Amino acid sequence: MTSAARIDLHAHSTASDGTLSPAELVRAAAEAGLDVVAITDHDTTAGWEAAARALPSGLTLVRGAELSCRWHGVEPALPLHLLAYLFDPAEPELVAELARVRRAREERGERIVRLLQADGINVSWREILAGAAGGSVGRPHIAQALIRAGLVATTSEAFGPDWLGERYRLPKEDIDVFRAVAMVRAAGGVPVFAHPRASRRGRIVPDELVAELAAVGLAGLEADHEDHTPAERAHVRGLAAELGLLVTGSSDFHGTHKTVRLGAHTTGPEAYERIVAAATGVTPIASG
Ligand code: AMP
Ligand code: ZN
Ligand code: FE
Ligand code: FE
Repeated sequence: MTSAARIDLHAHSTASDGTLSPAELVRAAAEAGLDVVAITDHDTTAGWEAAARALPSGLTLVRGAELSCRWHGVEPALPLHLLAYLFDPAEPELVAELARVRRAREERGERIVRLLQADGINVSWREILAGAAGGSVGRPHIAQALIRAGLVATTSEAFGPDWLGERYRLPKEDIDVFRAVAMVRAAGGVPVFAHPRASRRGRIVPDELVAELAAVGLAGLEADHEDHTPAERAHVRGLAAELGLLVTGSSDFHGTHKTVRLGAHTTGPEAYERIVAAATGVTPIASG
């Protein structure tokens, strides 16, 4: 990797709540001038094969996922996201946990829809599931139903307090974050805490938890992310330096479900090389 390499390590496809198919995602990444892109769908590796098959020449694909986790050190338990890179997708314990979380997503989605319907809001769970098209279903899919029903204009409005952000927000059964870090490492993968200080999304974890996770295998922190203010990014960098963790920057691209563009934030080549060197599950795929 040259120092001018453009590396984006967090992007979603239709395998979860992005709007580009895995093949479209890698093509869009090449068009955006990226050298490396990671496919990191929520709780699934279902997009890996199609992304690899469609890989344009000159682009390197990092296979990953974003795991829905929970920290039980506070009441109520706090949700958080763990990016996992280059793990073995056949590792049985991880496979079972991801399948369980995807089922939990469906159960929670259906319960949210029932809450909406109980308030006379006309949304259909079958239609929402169809919209997810077999991918990990999430609130962005429910948001689309609210838009179709003319109740909100945008996805971000659907995430407001009157809708999926608070009033119709229900927790799902996520993976205990300590277990997730251990499982990702056991599968040869490299765990990186996604948007750890994104206070605008809700409650955030204390630095002490990040230190505890670093002690048991967390490899890095995502600093440059659209949900972090400049002060939050600086804090994450400081914490990473203190704990010897690598630092990433990424777009968290979701297609038209969000406004952020591929490559809006990028990761330095040193951090990328550290991730690749630490991984023993699968390798990055480079095309021609
Ligand atoms: P879920 O995984 O079902 O809990 O839904 C969370 C997903 O919704 C995450 O992937 C976020 O990227 C997305 N999301 C959260 N807040 C917003 C927002 N304000 N606008 C658009 N998407 C959001
Ligand atoms: Zn998402
Ligand atoms: Fe996330
Ligand atoms: Fe994400």
